Amino acid sequence: MPRRPQPSSYAPATAILALGDAFYDPVQPARFRQAILRFRNQAWAEAVGLGGLDAAGWIQHFVRFAPLPGTLPQPLALRYHGHQFRVYNPELGDGRGFLFAQLRDGDGRLLDLGTKGSGRTPYSRFGDGRLTLKGGVREVLASEMLEALGVETSKSFSLVETGEALERNDEPSPARSALLVRLQHSHIRIGTFQRLAFLQQAEEMRTLVDYCLREYYREQSGEDGAPRLLALVADAAARLAAAYVAAGFVHGVLNSDNVTVTGESFDYGPWRFTPYWDGDFTAAYFDQAGLYAFGRQPEAIHWNLVQLAKALTLIAPAEDLTQAIERFPALFQSALVAAVFARLGIRQTEPERDTIFLVKLENILGRKEVAIDRFFFDWRGGRRRGRSPADPFYRSEAMQDLIRDMRAYDAVPGAARHSYWEEDEPCSMLINEVEAIWRRIDDADDWSGFETKIAKVRRMGEAMRSGGA
Ligand code: AMP
Ligand code: MG
Repeated sequence: MPRRPQPSSYAPATAILALGDAFYDPVQPARFRQAILRFRNQAWAEAVGLGGLDAAGWIQHFVRFAPLPGTLPQPLALRYHGHQFRVYNPELGDGRGFLFAQLRDGDGRLLDLGTKGSGRTPYSRFGDGRLTLKGGVREVLASEMLEALGVETSKSFSLVETGEALERNDEPSPARSALLVRLQHSHIRIGTFQRLAFLQQAEEMRTLVDYCLREYYREQSGEDGAPRLLALVADAAARLAAAYVAAGFVHGVLNSDNVTVTGESFDYGPWRFTPYWDGDFTAAYFDQAGLYAFGRQPEAIHWNLVQLAKALTLIAPAEDLTQAIERFPALFQSALVAAVFARLGIRQTEPERDTIFLVKLENILGRKEVAIDRFFFDWRGGRRRGRSPADPFYRSEAMQDLIRDMRAYDAVPGAARHSYWEEDEPCSMLINEVEAIWRRIDDADDWSGFETKIAKVRRMGEAMRSGGA
């Protein structure tokens, strides 16, 4: 279950330096003429002991990148490769971001502060190293919504408007610019391993495997480190795939450089939530083949895992690695049961019974008669919540059958206690809402829609958690 922010004292770290110079390049942040704070994540700032920074201190560290005491002396652009839409690209790497600082939370868990839109690096290629304000707003909204739905995700930590005019071919230009800082456990991607395999750097691969076992899974290194790490990543990745499905989320660009070794969701570009349980629903306009469509995300994540296994054959026999890959479908299935039951607020029983129920539920939702958010809102705790526009559909035979099954399950205690469940409409984050929020910002510099939405999303998150989900 994703962790909640707990106030903690400031604990700087420099763990990444143990990897050595072959993994990153020290870089300079861009200088910005303007810095208008648009979003500050106070709860997570407190969780890493930075909640006390005043406005000037915040800008000093998260726009000018004055080093935070005791952590990295200079930002590091991380090196990685990856498959983009199944084509290998050895020219990736942090092209508009860097690792700024590492910290530990109250449990000693390593956390990275990374950036997006902080300037050019050796990996920028033809890019400007910048992020559009709309891109930043969209990343904040995606990460907040996913966190509220219980998905393990990067946290948007800071969003600052930087006053530049950007040229983009997928947004009306000139476009407003922004600088995002995100907080997440790891920025090590599957593409980080792929790069070492590409360069045939076995020693560095061993170093990376040991680092990931130690820092992200609290395990010792050893002869069998690579297959053990792969098994852990497979488990985390299966939970990520399941979480996306249960949330109705379509990431949009599940390239191997956008999948972390911890299975945390991050890097939100052309994401969308699907209104209906529609396997073909696609987020990115450039994904014409639907490679990363809603229903194909588990397969995409599995495919990335296979690339990790291939990379690890540099230091481990292939036969030791296949088991973790083969377990993925079963891991995904059980993770999906857990994620869907958590969203419904009902208790799991025996795997077979729960799986049959899940199949029925997917069939019902797959009819696209009721929107996903509406369904989970109406049936919290497995009991009907009140009147719903979907009532005529709920009277159908197939739905009546599902209701009987649902009623036989125990509700998670307090699942529907929060007053959120008494509202008329579920909180959602559909594309038309996101566009409307952006239009108000763009047309009138009116941020109230953005702020109200975040408050509503957080309230839904509270309601979801109060039932133990
Ligand atoms: P993404 O699809 O956002 O994961 O990015 C793929 C690659 O393109 C990464 O290496 C990014 O750092 C790089 N990139 C994306 N946008 C820009 C930009 N505006 N400037 C420089 N590099 C970029
Ligand atoms: Mg990326």
